[in-house]
Amino acid sequence: MSTRLKRVALHTLGCKLNYAETDTLAQRFEEAGYETIAFNEPADVYVINSCSVTENADTECRQLVRRVKKINPESKVVVTGCYAELKPERLKTISGIDLVIGNRNKFNVVSQVERHAHNEAIQNESVLGPISFQPSYSYASRTRSFLKVQDGCDYNCTFCTIPLARGLSRSASIADVLKQVDTLAQKGVKEIVLTGINLGDFGFGPARDVSMRKTEHFLDLLKALDNCSNIVRFRVSSVEPNLMSDAIIKFIAHSQRFAPHVHMPLQSGSDEILKRMKRRYKSDLYRERVAAIKSLMPHAAIGCDVIVGFPGEHSGYFNETEGLLKELEVSYLHVFSYSERVNTPATALEGKVSVQECRIRSNQLRKLSELKLQQFSAAFHLSQRPVLWEQPHNGKIRGYTDNYIRVQSVNHLNAAGEIQPTTLFWDDEQKAMWALE
Ligand code: SF4
Repeated sequence: MSTRLKRVALHTLGCKLNYAETDTLAQRFEEAGYETIAFNEPADVYVINSCSVTENADTECRQLVRRVKKINPESKVVVTGCYAELKPERLKTISGIDLVIGNRNKFNVVSQVERHAHNEAIQNESVLGPISFQPSYSYASRTRSFLKVQDGCDYNCTFCTIPLARGLSRSASIADVLKQVDTLAQKGVKEIVLTGINLGDFGFGPARDVSMRKTEHFLDLLKALDNCSNIVRFRVSSVEPNLMSDAIIKFIAHSQRFAPHVHMPLQSGSDEILKRMKRRYKSDLYRERVAAIKSLMPHAAIGCDVIVGFPGEHSGYFNETEGLLKELEVSYLHVFSYSERVNTPATALEGKVSVQECRIRSNQLRKLSELKLQQFSAAFHLSQRPVLWEQPHNGKIRGYTDNYIRVQSVNHLNAAGEIQPTTLFWDDEQKAMWALE
């Protein structure tokens, strides 16, 4: 590629892991002499880091390509990420895309861009088979970073394309994670969110083939990080309920550095649906995990993913899910409507649920989530929690407590990037938490 291609703009679709990886791609471009600019500015190269879970990945990619081609018709457009991994041929039909790079090769994006002329190559090498771990972290917020410590998944949940899009479970070594943590601390980051696809399955090491056994474990990682005095706060993102052991719960409860906040996907409260999904636990285990967390950390936030409308979920099974969620002390829900993904076993299951019914169930659970979050937050009215303040915006500053309550203030405008003990004030009319001034 000629030296005139010097400005790059990147856009992320999907999960926290994708955000961390996009920031790493941006770093690669910067190291190669590019300037990174916003996605709505005229760039020479546009990179879309795509997602296969996004319902309309196809439409979204089309719209983004159309948008950037209007800004600069001469630009080179690259699509990478999970959708590029799973559907390279489909992306090939979208006019304006010059290069499609699967997950195995995405970290070589700069050399790929420089090697290929416009519209010269659709290139994809599968992630299946032996594959190495590529470290990444996000640094956009400068106070909080998503650090990727694990990638891929060995599970076979019947609705999920992630194992096909990202390959086998593999991880950074603990020694490498500690080095990355040090780098982030030097940049001024105060909170690190440990991120992965199946985070609790951490430990397979940076290069993986199917015969490989675990060399380290998730709890070893937590213990090592707890000694990192240069980072104030760590948070774990999503951990499967079957991997959220009592030892891990106990460790987080007694740690000074790990935030009292866990996210555990439930997906369904019906044992029959969990079986059809090939999840590795039953609803009772989930119930026990929540009780164990709450008994050691009554103030902990617990987040939960739920899928509505999975094939076979008749109203009785949905009522089991809703009933369980009402009973459990979870603080908020992420609700997803089931949608078919090609090449997944769930597509062959009987008992499809209509789109309209999915919408009704999803709305019902979203309302429940709002109520739970309000009740959880209101319980901390006039109590003190440490808040990490973000960048001020329009005369207001926002931040999160250790137990993941969103707080706002008009008086802490100089506290960006700091963690401060803050007395909370719940405004029941606005349903919002404020710092008591
Ligand atoms: S645990 Fe299941 S849902 Fe999560 S990434 Fe693995 S296969 Fe997908």
